Amino acid sequence: MARVIIALGSNLGDRRSHLSQARQYLESLSTTPLTLSSVYETEPVGEVSTHMFYNAVCMFETDLEAMTLLEKIKTYEQEYGRDPSAPRWANRTIDLDIIDYDRQNIARQRLVVPHPEYEKRLFVLYPLQEVYPDWVDVRSGRHISALIEQAPKIGVFKTRVNW
Ligand code: AMP
Repeated sequence: MARVIIALGSNLGDRRSHLSQARQYLESLSTTPLTLSSVYETEPVGEVSTHMFYNAVCMFETDLEAMTLLEKIKTYEQEYGRDPSAPRWANRTIDLDIIDYDRQNIARQRLVVPHPEYEKRLFVLYPLQEVYPDWVDVRSGRHISALIEQAPKIGVFKTRVNW
């Protein structure tokens, strides 16, 4: 059994509904109830993306191996309507990233855990702190509060949206 943390993002169409449907999908992969963060509204990063994002994080336990989990969430993203050939920061219906897999340090070609860029993303760090206040990065040994302090400042607003 592995405890995993997934970050979710959506900036197209009915963002709350996209998060909610992804949550239901993740529940089908989980052996425990999900621990959910609040939903945060975030300014788009990069030049291609134009609409504000909804971002959130959830934590649960699963029997799936790390690579199987990655395959499942990427398949879900594609089936749910994201164009895999679109530019990296294009608008997207739903984006799912593995932030943590059982506190492991994984460096494979297709999977890097903790997620390679999460430390730069306040829209992941704030919700991560909600579900895991004692989080310490297994690569750097840095505490979540230090990670938040050093991350580039962008507009991230906590909402009361249910998902
Ligand atoms: P994305 O732009 O978020 O869809 O991710 C593109 C690629 O990043 C995926 O096809 C994965 O193989 C790779 N990747 C590497 N590490 C991770 C991770 N921790 N979570 C999700 N995708 C990852």
